[in-house]
Amino acid sequence: MSDYDYDLFVIGAGSGGVRAARIAATHGAKVAIAEEYRYGGTCVIRGCVPKKLFVNSAKFSEEFSHAHAYGWDLNGTPTFDFARLVANKDREIARLEKIYRTNLDKAGVELFDSRAVVEGPNQVRLLASDTVITAKYILIAVGATPNVDATIEGGEHIITSNEAFHMENLPESIVVVGGGYIAVEFAGIFAGMGAKTTLVYRGEEILRGFDDDIRKTLHEDMVRKGIDVVTQDNIASIAPQAAGNYLVTTKAGRELSVDKVMMAIGRRPNTAGLGLETAGVEMDASGAIKVSPDSQSSVPSIYAVGDVTGRANLTPVAIREGHAFADTVFGGNPWHVNHDLIPTAVFSQPEIGTAGFTQAEAEARFDNLDIYTASFRGMKTILCGTDDKVMMKLIVDADTDKILGVHILGPEAGELIQMIGVTLQMGATKADYDRTIAVHPTAAEELVTMKVPTQKIRK
Ligand code: NDP
Repeated sequence: MSDYDYDLFVIGAGSGGVRAARIAATHGAKVAIAEEYRYGGTCVIRGCVPKKLFVNSAKFSEEFSHAHAYGWDLNGTPTFDFARLVANKDREIARLEKIYRTNLDKAGVELFDSRAVVEGPNQVRLLASDTVITAKYILIAVGATPNVDATIEGGEHIITSNEAFHMENLPESIVVVGGGYIAVEFAGIFAGMGAKTTLVYRGEEILRGFDDDIRKTLHEDMVRKGIDVVTQDNIASIAPQAAGNYLVTTKAGRELSVDKVMMAIGRRPNTAGLGLETAGVEMDASGAIKVSPDSQSSVPSIYAVGDVTGRANLTPVAIREGHAFADTVFGGNPWHVNHDLIPTAVFSQPEIGTAGFTQAEAEARFDNLDIYTASFRGMKTILCGTDDKVMMKLIVDADTDKILGVHILGPEAGELIQMIGVTLQMGATKADYDRTIAVHPTAAEELVTMKVPTQKIRK
């Protein structure tokens, strides 16, 4: 008999926590999980899933405008019902949440609908019932929450992605602040749905950390699609106006009259008030739990996975970390997640798919590089006469022929980069790509037909 109520107590039923709980339970552990809000976490409830549904919706406007060239006439101007989209999205999320609960239940995990706080290395308190529970191991998987710059005058009027999923109406105009994943994705969403959209980013170019050519090309595409992209500026104040909207003033003195202001300036770990300090769990300055490669915190019985550790804030990473933790601690199969070479997509319009090093990163690490870049009009848009480009970039180590990075901007780049990520994991060379026969007519065939480097970098 164990001295504890459970072998594992998981706090947070998002992607990482749920995976860890289910796998630990299938390894025979006695597992419980506590969730204070809704099962599924950020990704399902207010992140990836609703975002992708919104992106899907926003893309229709461009499809409608392209339809005529393909022989279609729409009878009248298409109209958009934001409330209908939100209701359908909410129904889908409720369905997914139910599946999360059912799967935990089927795996034999006990569910507590309560906030839980840590009271010691092996003890948590459920606040809803004020009960104390002991566990041999505690897993913190509480995720992160959007940051808001509270110093801005009128900052109380700011919404984040959390609220954007529940607006009653589509605003006629909106300012999106930030230049990361969420800001560019939402700018595309609002613009595609028909809102007059301004993106304000403090830096020189959006999407810092992504390949420079991709950043620049996406910026141009966003402008072409009607988004006002303002760089090297930030909002300074938000003043409500008599008409019910807001006057936003920027640091550079721009004045924008808008219906909504959304901020997407990064996320912070949800560790405040969780009792981690009392248990002796070390955190960094941002509040992220410091963990070993095996996700173990400074307290040996307490582990942490997902966004709360601030390693790579991506759902599939959290899932892997949760799985590795459960296999390692309960399955007698120790392994940990390799955080290198994570393929990722930005669901901007057009999409970005990226895997491996950017050109700047590769230049800092390797002596000799061959860069292959292709920029062309996708077949679908040719009939429509638009200037939308597809961009593909291969970064190759000229000494070993190994492909170090692949960056794509264009339709379905997210789908493409998944399989490209496999080839990079396998250590694919440019010769491997060259040997692969093209699939025609696709945009992807360009990846295996780029023969001459557009740039040779030699040290
Ligand atoms: P990001 O870290 O991606 O971007 C934050 C942006 O906000 C940066 O452009 C940053 O500028 C800017 N910023 C930071 N602080 C301020 C400030 N005080 N004032 C103005 N601007 C500021 O965060 P997001 O919120 O966009 O997304 C959070 C995380 O969620 C991402 O890192 C990603 O891991 C994940 N995510 C993944 C998605 C996907 O896989 N498709 C989709 C959405 C989110 P600067 O560059 O100058 O620092």
